Amino acid sequence: MICDNISVKDGVLYFAGANTVELAKEYKTPLYLMDENKIRNNCRVYLNAMNKYFGANAMPLYASKAASFKKIYEIMKDEGMGIDVVSSGEIYTALKAGFNLKNAYFHSNNKTDEDINFAMENGVGYFVVDNKEELDAINQIAKERSLTQSILLRLTPGIDTHTYEAVNTGKVDSKFGTAIETGQAEKMVEYTLTLSNIKLCGFHCHIGSQVFESDTFIRGSKIMLEFIATVKAKFGFVTEQLDLGGGYGVRYLDSHPTIDIADNIRQVAECIKSTAAELNIEIPKILLEPGRSIVADAGMTLYTVGTVKEITGYKNYTSIDGGMTDNPRFALYGSPYTILPASRMNDTADFVSDVVGRCCESGDIIQKDVTLPKAKRGDILAVCTTGAYNYSMASNYNRITRPAVVMIKDTKPYVAVKRESLEYLTENDI
Ligand SMILES: *Cc1c(COP(=O)(O)O)cnc(C)c1O
Repeated sequence: MICDNISVKDGVLYFAGANTVELAKEYKTPLYLMDENKIRNNCRVYLNAMNKYFGANAMPLYASKAASFKKIYEIMKDEGMGIDVVSSGEIYTALKAGFNLKNAYFHSNNKTDEDINFAMENGVGYFVVDNKEELDAINQIAKERSLTQSILLRLTPGIDTHTYEAVNTGKVDSKFGTAIETGQAEKMVEYTLTLSNIKLCGFHCHIGSQVFESDTFIRGSKIMLEFIATVKAKFGFVTEQLDLGGGYGVRYLDSHPTIDIADNIRQVAECIKSTAAELNIEIPKILLEPGRSIVADAGMTLYTVGTVKEITGYKNYTSIDGGMTDNPRFALYGSPYTILPASRMNDTADFVSDVVGRCCESGDIIQKDVTLPKAKRGDILAVCTTGAYNYSMASNYNRITRPAVVMIKDTKPYVAVKRESLEYLTENDI
């Protein structure tokens, strides 16, 4: 199976030890399932490995854009994770969950004045600053509030990760960050050090997403440490924190490799130690920002099949009761997914069709050319590894309500996010 929290008993698919067909019956479909134990275990892989190899002050930050709702922040607080937030909405949700925002890092390439004020008002620990305009705005607002804001500067180390274009963020010409290669990053540091209400704590980079090559983070950390040595020599600036971003890949298909994250962290730590020694610089506090690898395999989406359309001589469609409104990732970047016939796991899979949603869009596709037992109306289909960037990217297109999120803890389900009601849809309409 694609993940060790998926199993089969008597032809029925089990997720996190719970019977998916019974869950579909009880909570209706479409339905997001999330495995709380898996989320916690994924956090602990980072917490333990970073503590062991980077030292006790290292900290993983959960990149909460991957899945953001109160229960997630409660789990992160409980596990001792920091968080990365990208909007007032994520900050607000974390606050509502009682998360201590001292350990929050505020990202985004265009923070509005409203965002900046909201974050400062609520004591967000660090801003990760993308560009000069933003830096000036943060300095100005900090001055008005008579405070000194701690920040990291987001830099682009100029690495091409060979993953999807849409999730490739570390290249020189990226929309995010300030480039090292062009000399602009150095100038930013020099300028930042002149600002009265900014405390520069260090640097951040995020190379990409769904990264499998183990040398990507090693190359990234080397470039960042060389930069840290340069600004120490030029400006006498001592870097306290180095945030290497997120991006470790997860398995969406059986053909995808499994990443040993702890061993990867060990390798990155070795590189950091030897490079820092060579460059004669202190090793800063190391941060990582995993999103997908914390929640993706802790998720699964259940759907009910409506119709099966066979266009003789052309192709077949299996339509489900959800689609791009709860999972836009195939429509956005052709993301692969594994789909399982949850209610008929022992039947022969011999029917090829595109599994499509019910939105008025031809691009509303969950996955093309899927081989399953030919479905009947009422069959339950499960899409695996949907814990990241599904609920958080969901929309109300076609006025479709967002599904519930049901968490499973020790095989017992509970509702973490309610299914949206029809009334909810018109709540803001005047
Ligand atoms: C999206 C993002 C992450 C998380 O990336 P994953 O691929 O989900 O691990 C971390 N840091 C930043 C700045 C991001 O934009």
